[in-house]
Amino acid sequence: MRVLLVEDERRLAELIKGGLAGEGFAVDIAHDGRDGLWMASENTYDVIVLDVMLPRMNGYTVCSRLREAGDWTPIMMLTAKDGVHDEAEALDTGADDYLSKPFSYVVLLARLRALVRRGGRERPVSIAVGDLTVDPAGLRCRRGEALIPLTPKEFAVLYGLARRVGEVVSKGDLLAQAWDFAYDGDPNIVEVYISALRRKIDLPFGRRSLVTVRGAGYRLDEKG
Ligand code: CA
Repeated sequence: MRVLLVEDERRLAELIKGGLAGEGFAVDIAHDGRDGLWMASENTYDVIVLDVMLPRMNGYTVCSRLREAGDWTPIMMLTAKDGVHDEAEALDTGADDYLSKPFSYVVLLARLRALVRRGGRERPVSIAVGDLTVDPAGLRCRRGEALIPLTPKEFAVLYGLARRVGEVVSKGDLLAQAWDFAYDGDPNIVEVYISALRRKIDLPFGRRSLVTVRGAGYRLDEKG
């Protein structure tokens, strides 16, 4: 099991490395964001542990660069504060899980093992919903010929709806799919992403394909 640990606090990095090595993980350490991005691009890891506050390039940027490059290695983000903003941002840049500092080593180990078990994300084929194309491999979305830039988390919500086009998908299902088990914050965060999606995939095109079904969830319509 090969782990890349990107952490600028050298003592903490050595402690984590020592602990993980004792569990049979092979651990490479990068002390800043640029080195971390380079090492992640050059080597293959089973999981990446990525601090947010890093010199030269922060963890959010490292994570989104990797995802943009099509690298879906599971990423565990180490956030500095335990605020919903940080958590949402970590997941929004394409991290699979996050842990707020300070964390217990036992929890880190358990969560890393769970991440590795789950493996990389599924990479299914494009889905067409009317003239809307949702391409999960490239995280790309188009309305007709127009390319619509989405964040990874907006994309995950849209993809959850596109997979079940014409059906009502509950907020809980969208949460479970787009946030995995790790998100235990406010489920109303889904509404924030639905609104953002409407502003991107519907409003500019005079469409109403993303429908709120009161008390039940959301539906993506082919003709809307
Ligand atoms: Ca740091």
